[in-house]
Amino acid sequence: MFPILSRKVKGKDLVYFDNAATAQKPQQVIDALTSYYTGYNANIHRGLHTLADEATAAFEATRQAVCAFIGAAYPEEIIFTKGTTESINLVAQSWGSAFLKEGDEIIISSLEHHANIVPWQMIAETKGAKLRVIPIDDNGVLDMQAYKNMLNSKTKMVAVVHVSNALGVINPVEEIIHLAHAQGAHVLIDGAQSSVHLDIDVQSLDCEFFVFSGHKVYGPTGTGILYGKKSLLEAMPPYQGGGEMIKEVTFEKTTYNELPFKFEAGTPNIADFIALKSAIDFIKDTGKDSIRAHENMLLGYATEKLRAFKDVRIIGDVFEKVSVISFVVEGVHPQDLAILLDNQGIAVRTGHHCAQPLMQRLCIVGTTRISFAAYNTIQEIDAFMEALKKSLNMLR
Ligand code: PMP
Repeated sequence: MFPILSRKVKGKDLVYFDNAATAQKPQQVIDALTSYYTGYNANIHRGLHTLADEATAAFEATRQAVCAFIGAAYPEEIIFTKGTTESINLVAQSWGSAFLKEGDEIIISSLEHHANIVPWQMIAETKGAKLRVIPIDDNGVLDMQAYKNMLNSKTKMVAVVHVSNALGVINPVEEIIHLAHAQGAHVLIDGAQSSVHLDIDVQSLDCEFFVFSGHKVYGPTGTGILYGKKSLLEAMPPYQGGGEMIKEVTFEKTTYNELPFKFEAGTPNIADFIALKSAIDFIKDTGKDSIRAHENMLLGYATEKLRAFKDVRIIGDVFEKVSVISFVVEGVHPQDLAILLDNQGIAVRTGHHCAQPLMQRLCIVGTTRISFAAYNTIQEIDAFMEALKKSLNMLR
């Protein structure tokens, strides 16, 4: 089902534990790409020929599928972007340029990926707004009292990660959203890590924006989602100008297209978005609940095995987390460990995980992170533990 998983690395069976960076793709996603290019490659919308009609229908079917996947009310609330990063930049630039004023405040958390820090810093600098950061404890748990104290009438946006990519910790987003709304602030949830593991219902969450990347939900790279509440998206100016996002252009004045096209200038990533529907179908057909149960079983098993290693310290060792384990080993640099593991066919991620401020807060240079997906197995965890033992013996 996942063809890549049968390959060898350095002569060993591949063990792929870097799923939080990107997930592998099921055959049906690869097939969808091939059948688009071999069967109906054409530019979408405005075409008056069969191939264009077929491509447009398949592309828009993905929008419907994403809408249902995250429980949005209307398909036009689903904007296609390059990825989580572009979705956040779009909101920061478009919403921020229209609605932020000098002295306004934006709240983020200490757990954020750089993609949910830098775009806010950029617009805050342009607008003279202030960025505030919710602190965490040593396990990566948000200090909710500090958050409550931070909220005030100047708070205009709260942008927080649903699940930390570096630690796997799940944030209490329902409460975060509720408290923000009580102050009249909008909320953006970075769902890059949560959308593949947790059930998402943006209507019951009631967040203004929810963003994620297709490549982390078993879909192609170059596909990103921005969900936004319709009334807000309608009030926001376009992010980029060009074809598709216009209604009428004259040299004197341009009127803009309706949602979602207002935010989709130029030819989009047609093939990859068409294939994204196959990825969503894979998750739906397998069942998010059964994927989550399987991943939790792997998480529990691996956590227990890792605890048996003396000198290994799990960071973010909390109950509310997804199948991500980040750890440090006393006296061992994560990079050295990754290289030794790769020599044994095991793919892990090491370093700061694009969360340098979090690493600074935790007083570490980085971690070794293993993360599990639907296709991982107990046998792979056993192979990993053996390889870890061997590697640590070599490093000492
Ligand atoms: N936020 C989080 C929590 C992430 O894990 C990632 C990807 N590592 C991003 C944002 C950025 O996603 P992308 O690189 O797909 O735009």
